[in-house]
Amino acid sequence: MCHLIWQLITGQVAVTRNLVRQNMRGDKYCPRCGETEESVTHAIFECPPALQVWSLSATPISPGTFPVASVYTNMDYLFWRKNNILEPDQDKDPYPWIIWYIWKARNDKLFRGIDRDPLELVRLRRNGENTQLMETRNFTRCESALHSEVEALRWKMENMLQHSRCQSFGTDCKELIAMINEPQEWPSVATELEKIETMLICFLDFKITHVPRVRNQFSDFLSKTARTFRRELLFIGCSIPFWLPRPAQA
Ligand SMILES: [Zn+2]
Repeated sequence: MCHLIWQLITGQVAVTRNLVRQNMRGDKYCPRCGETEESVTHAIFECPPALQVWSLSATPISPGTFPVASVYTNMDYLFWRKNNILEPDQDKDPYPWIIWYIWKARNDKLFRGIDRDPLELVRLRRNGENTQLMETRNFTRCESALHSEVEALRWKMENMLQHSRCQSFGTDCKELIAMINEPQEWPSVATELEKIETMLICFLDFKITHVPRVRNQFSDFLSKTARTFRRELLFIGCSIPFWLPRPAQA
């Protein structure tokens, strides 16, 4: 899912119109509203449930400006022009999340017959921070060590997105790096990895590298500080995140 935006722009998303072109599907109907042809613009921007999500989000919409019939114009608006209308701290719903939720709701309808309430999507995003913190604790208690690793990474990525431009992460857990690189090999943590892949849309230069514990001083410090995580996860090439207390010598 991390390439969803790129696929949107290049028209590679598996909307029914594209599947028909590739002889993978017999009809072009939109699975959500029954429109005779489901294009990318229709699925993400114009289909009534999708449009409803945009209306409920913090993204300003206005007739003739956004959304319009061109996927390029819409993405240009979300990438650049929206920032002139909306103060960054008012932008509570980053567009990669909205697009991902819309696409996921569309797939839930097509493949599982589930109807998602557009309000639910926005509510999920708005309550995201608290929910995720609770989830992190739950995972630490109930699930495997691998789940804890992935949850810890996701929580830190979320914080980095909100408070820092840091794109580089380090961990002493080799399995975590393997999971990020080849998520399809780890079906037991598929749900958690899918969330990471969604976050990756927002990181243009994401890196995660293996750092042996003994070779990094910050590692020891962070592992002592971040006691909620079973193993340490640290940031490379960044200052210590502001929400953590500083070590005495730093
Ligand atoms: Zn539709």
